[in-house]
Amino acid sequence: MNDCYIDLHLHIDGAVSPATAIAVAKMEGIALPTTDEKELLSYLEVPKDSKDLVDYLKTFDLPVSLMQSRAAISEVTYRVQEDLRAQGVIYAELRFAPQLHTQKGLTQRDVVEAALEGLERSPLKSNLILCCMRFADNQAANLETVRVAEEFLNKGVVGLDIAGSEADGPIENYADIFQKAKESGIPFTIHAGEAAGADSVRKAVEMGASRIGHGVRSVEDASVLKLLADRKIPLELCPTSNLNTRVFETLADFPLKKLMDNGVIVTINSDNPIVSATNVKREMQILKEQFQLSDKDIRQLLINAANVSFADTATKEYIKNE
Ligand SMILES: [Zn+2]
Repeated sequence: MNDCYIDLHLHIDGAVSPATAIAVAKMEGIALPTTDEKELLSYLEVPKDSKDLVDYLKTFDLPVSLMQSRAAISEVTYRVQEDLRAQGVIYAELRFAPQLHTQKGLTQRDVVEAALEGLERSPLKSNLILCCMRFADNQAANLETVRVAEEFLNKGVVGLDIAGSEADGPIENYADIFQKAKESGIPFTIHAGEAAGADSVRKAVEMGASRIGHGVRSVEDASVLKLLADRKIPLELCPTSNLNTRVFETLADFPLKKLMDNGVIVTINSDNPIVSATNVKREMQILKEQFQLSDKDIRQLLINAANVSFADTATKEYIKNE
């Protein structure tokens, strides 16, 4: 198989390599705990004793703290794409939450402009998905994310998402955000069925999500599996990330076959390549070995990803030809 991968679920702040962190910290005059790449990796990777999603999310503090200026955001976005290109990725949808990058005075609009500038510097075909956040009291910031997504829709931004800890409230607390997104014609994916159960997936579908981030726990409810299959709502699966956050204890427990056998459209993604010490190529390989996937299965997973990407028709054609 040629190296030709697609990653639809990748958080930019979970993809900051030690080399990138060191370069950006130098640019920004920020002191790092260490400038040794190997040692720094221990700050950027999820600890082995990570218990759940909340623990996992702590790993993002350092990369987010580095990405608080236009130059830093542009540089990180550019470098993440170059890392992907080196791994054989031909198309990526890179996501991040603009509201986390306003600590030093940037507006969300500035943040997105800077990321778009970084996108243009790399020849990789890619687009941005803007994440809203599940926080207790950030409705205004989330609505601003929707507004900025609308402004840059189809100009490098292709969709919205909501990320963060599902403990900070069920998805219906954020219904107004997705209502606004629907009214503005912005496609969106929702993180669901990861820390929370199958019902969170059903709610995300009912809210109008056209894809689901993870969604693996939909296997806990046959009616949710049927809903996904009937409505052709694809899942953005990220197996290693689920092992890190203890959704599953071993890869053998990962319900890939059950999802596929129930007619659910699935795609394979990295989620956070540096945090989880993986990439989309590795995710494909470990699944191939674990579940004895054929080349035809792998090809189907790639075709699924091309079909359900938020890219325009010309880009989809390009991906499929590759
Ligand atoms: Zn994610």
